Amino acid sequence: MPIVGLTDQQRSRYPEVGVIRKGEKRPEGGKGIGKDLSYFRMDTQDASVQKLWNELYPKEPRELIITLPHRTVEENFSAWKEEWIASGLAHRCDGQFMVQQRDKKGEMVMFSDGDRKPCPGGCSIAGRLSVILPQMRRLSTVMVATSSKWDIINLTENLNALYDIKQSLMGIPIILRRVLKSISTPRGNGKRARQKSWLLQLEAAPGYVAAELEYRAHEALPRVHLPAIAAPKARIHDDHTWREWDPEVMAANGEDAPGPVIDAEPVLAETPRRVAHTAPAEAAAVEAPPFVADDFPEHLAYLTGVETNQEREDMEWSDFWQAAVKDLGFNHSRHASNALKGAIGDHPVTSLNKSQRWAILARSQEQAGLGEEE
Ligand SMILES: [Zn+2]
Repeated sequence: MPIVGLTDQQRSRYPEVGVIRKGEKRPEGGKGIGKDLSYFRMDTQDASVQKLWNELYPKEPRELIITLPHRTVEENFSAWKEEWIASGLAHRCDGQFMVQQRDKKGEMVMFSDGDRKPCPGGCSIAGRLSVILPQMRRLSTVMVATSSKWDIINLTENLNALYDIKQSLMGIPIILRRVLKSISTPRGNGKRARQKSWLLQLEAAPGYVAAELEYRAHEALPRVHLPAIAAPKARIHDDHTWREWDPEVMAANGEDAPGPVIDAEPVLAETPRRVAHTAPAEAAAVEAPPFVADDFPEHLAYLTGVETNQEREDMEWSDFWQAAVKDLGFNHSRHASNALKGAIGDHPVTSLNKSQRWAILARSQEQAGLGEEE
């Protein structure tokens, strides 16, 4: 059960272990703000965090790689106007109306939307961006603090642009930079002056946007749907037991159910358990001994009458496996390679040339009642 006002409004949060600041420490006496720096400064009570920061950024860093812990702009970034006094926060407002205020007894009063009181003045901008420093390898956040109106504008724009890429900011690799910009500030005599300032800027890490767009373009391509066909009843060799190749059995064993998909490249290593006897040779790229028909186990003697097919020999392996799907009725090239391994038992697959493999596949499909007959 939540405690009203205490645990019922919390969203999921990582522990916050420090604040990344843009300026120097407040001068002694606590009045005024510290001098603006051109780099990021870590402000933390946690000695291990400070040590890690010093190791990661021994020089004065102007660029940090960050990710964001939450999905939306609002969850990651907040901007308020706040009045701070010696005893703490005096009030927080949106520039016009307060959302909270410390009363005369020192108690913090929260205002709901309907009964907000006007801002009494004396407040200044406080922007807070919650970030994860992935290089720190800690599941914790640090807060990037700013009191610049220009930072609030920049960060809001940058975050909205990043959010548009895939409607979530979570986990995107981002570069947080300090960039020198010329800004216009009031001079006090009704005129404005241009002044240089090291502002904050967010940008997706190089390559990320291109990769994301490429992925989306790929996702948008029309899919090739082959007509669904019954799973071939080829037998496969599975830990020295023989069993029917049954989609339900495969599903029960957590294996991929056969689907009408063409894999261009069969991945033999995908079924390490089944190919354990051939995997070492394949992995080590050891040239297997030449195929000798007599090497076949007796019960597969019928395969010794292997037909040769020079056409198959010239095919790329990816075309070979696709042809096995297309011409022989396998519904996945991986299933074709499994059927092949099942058919030859302990005989190393690598010792068979394309023609021999083709003949074995054709035979096993023929036996399964599938294949070229229409
Ligand atoms: Zn205010």
